[in-house]
Amino acid sequence: MIRLPSFEICAPTTVEEAVALKAGYGPEAMYVAGGTDLFPNMKRRQFEPKVLISLRGVQDLRGISNGTGLTIGAGVTLTELTNHPDVRKSFPSLAEAAGLVSSPPLRNMGTIGGNLCLDTRCTYYNQSHAWRKALGFCMKKDGDTCWVALSSQKCLAVSSSDCAPVAIALGAEVRLVGPQGERRIPAEALYRDDGLEYLEKMADELLVSIHLPAMDGWRSSYRKLRRRGTIDFPILGVAVALRLAEDGTCEAARLVLGAVASRPLLVPQATELLVGQRITEQLVQDVAEVAAKSAKPLDNTDMALSYRKKVTRVYAARALAEAAGLPAGD
Ligand SMILES: Cc1cc2nc3c(=O)[nH]c(=O)nc-3n(C[C@H](O)[C@H](O)[C@H](O)COP(=O)(O)OP(=O)(O)OC[C@H]3O[C@@H](n4cnc5c(N)ncnc54)[C@H](O)[C@@H]3O)c2cc1C
Ligand code: SF4
Repeated sequence: MIRLPSFEICAPTTVEEAVALKAGYGPEAMYVAGGTDLFPNMKRRQFEPKVLISLRGVQDLRGISNGTGLTIGAGVTLTELTNHPDVRKSFPSLAEAAGLVSSPPLRNMGTIGGNLCLDTRCTYYNQSHAWRKALGFCMKKDGDTCWVALSSQKCLAVSSSDCAPVAIALGAEVRLVGPQGERRIPAEALYRDDGLEYLEKMADELLVSIHLPAMDGWRSSYRKLRRRGTIDFPILGVAVALRLAEDGTCEAARLVLGAVASRPLLVPQATELLVGQRITEQLVQDVAEVAAKSAKPLDNTDMALSYRKKVTRVYAARALAEAAGLPAGD
């Protein structure tokens, strides 16, 4: 059994206290919410914080409230999100994605904030310390080589959150609070295509809440590829959100791919093809084709690269057909 290293834990009860603690301890400290990603990573010595700032007691991170759209506290668990009637009714793709994360015990602990801030993953990185040491480590932690692409100057580890592509497709915004104050940015702007520095968030900034706009007339869907349907991370995710006019013309559309790059990948060509058109089975195939072409997955997650490339087209077609109310074919 791999053991956790020792660390100190702080238990703030307010956002301000949590942020002040993080700023005070600096790079030695990390936030922890459910710990379902951070603790395994600490066991493998991928992260070695001396201090953890637990978010469990911060009441302002809890709860889902209705206003213009929905505001979801970062500390809401994935189980709460999946079961919430307003999320299920208005944002079914988010309920679906949250319900597909991992397994029930981890969804009971894991939070939406932790899911959106999830570390990027790679076959050469999500390994024990002994395994990584035997290889000579890699650029993401303790080394300077990328084993996926030896000539790469940057880490190509993969964004593997189920909820992040959905949040972007739904046009969500996130509220961040840091020592310098607070800001609200589109979920799309939270991510960088860099396996190391994968968030635009500053290290001390706390993700406090997620804001979903009112989506009258929108439909959404999420499809996930993984080996074991009960626990595995996505090796492909497709999130679609569409607004259709009464006559069936597509007025707005967003298609986002997960697990094909170091950040969730918005496919603007899909929007261009869809908007102003009635969605037919042929159009679904055309959009799926451009989505698959945009995806440039690498050989650093589960399943063969060639299979993952082929199946991107199939999953994009299914997600789009479902959102458009056409037969999804599975
Ligand atoms: C076996 C297994 C299978 C898994 N399968 C999946 C899967 O299929 N899909 C998937 O998406 N995930 C999966 N996960 C990862 C994880 O369980 C989820 O992503 C979960 O939602 C993470 O939330 P958490 O609250 O536990 O995050 P934590 O582990 O507490 O934190 C994760 C990261 O986010 C940071 N963080 C947490 N909250 C905040 C905040 N409010 N503000 C700023 N930073 C914050 C932490 O510092 C840390 O860097 C899996 C994990 C395991 C162990
Ligand atoms: S993509 Fe390269 S640098 Fe990044 S984790 Fe994998 S092997 Fe390491």
